[in-house]
Amino acid sequence: MNTYSVSTEDEMHFRSKRVAILGYGSQGRAQALNLRDSGADVIVGNRAGNSFEKAKADGFSVMSVSDAVKSADVLALLLPDESTADIYAEDIAPYLREGHTLLFAHGFNILYNFITPPEFVDVVLVAPKGVGPMVRRLYEEGNGVASLVSIHQDASGSALKTALGFASAIGSSRSAIIESTFKDETETDLFGEQAIICGGIPALIEAAVDILIEAGYPPELAYSECAHEVKLVIDLIYAKGFGEMYNSVSKTASYGGITRGNRLISDALKSEMKEILREVQSGEFAAEWIAEKRAGSGHFHALVQNARESEMEKAGIAFRKILETKCE
Ligand code: NDP
Ligand code: MG
Repeated sequence: MNTYSVSTEDEMHFRSKRVAILGYGSQGRAQALNLRDSGADVIVGNRAGNSFEKAKADGFSVMSVSDAVKSADVLALLLPDESTADIYAEDIAPYLREGHTLLFAHGFNILYNFITPPEFVDVVLVAPKGVGPMVRRLYEEGNGVASLVSIHQDASGSALKTALGFASAIGSSRSAIIESTFKDETETDLFGEQAIICGGIPALIEAAVDILIEAGYPPELAYSECAHEVKLVIDLIYAKGFGEMYNSVSKTASYGGITRGNRLISDALKSEMKEILREVQSGEFAAEWIAEKRAGSGHFHALVQNARESEMEKAGIAFRKILETKCE
């Protein structure tokens, strides 16, 4: 992967622009605070409510999305992906002019054509590879979260300078600014979420916890071994990679894990993973998710509620209670 270095010229180019952070949520708040601390001219656009009040309390000039669009040059769309196209149609598109940059933190709406910007604006991607609070915390510590950068449309001839100046000001130049594409960023992000971080791992954990509970072991112990301890191993992988992880756990754990883990990866599992990737690449997942949002998200909320009521979740609550009691 190629990385970009940011020149003083890129930074000066970006400094001359006013940035509107549209959506003061996880990414919006972190990026707005980092941009301001880096010396950028930042305003916030959000609907009335909690996020609006939070931005005000943080000292920003806060207004409606459409007013922010009218008075800024760089428009950072840090809104929920499933609502962005509707907000764009109503509050952003009618006010676009030459000189505007539409900046996305995820390629979803551009890749799947839910948003088709006019030809006279720049369209760029600056996708931080970390959750909002991490983007803020690392910046405050003098570090940064890496970002993927891509240019979809370069009407001004300086879209890359704007994207690099922005990426640098949120702290990514202190880590890495990586050249990517809207397609690669979106498809790998969605596949990773679904097959592993928010899908595959939780499903594997739940199956293992259920098996131990069914076999008669105490639910809290099942949870501790198969869910709670995942963090210890993930932290080791994050810091030092898989080889060092195997060195840090006991030899019994390494041998047992290496000889047994792969037995779970059947041909059926691999072909299901490939099917998940196919649904991402074809846009079927994106269409399904936007349809769910437009239908009121009732099915989605029921699924989340179901997860909250699972045997695994009950075991987790009971286990954390035991830990709390021990601490008292
Ligand atoms: P959040 O859901 O945390 O925040 C969205 C913000 O948009 C909230 O402040 C919300 O305010 C506001 N909002 C919602 N609806 C409207 C509306 N109709 N009009 C105006 N404002 C509205 O989103 P994230 O920060 O998680 O995601 C933002 C973008 O960043 C997405 O593209 C996402 O894919 C990307 N991203 C997210 C990462 C993450 O870790 N969270 C990581 C990397 C990229 P209100 O309180 O009023 O609802
Ligand atoms: Mg994502």
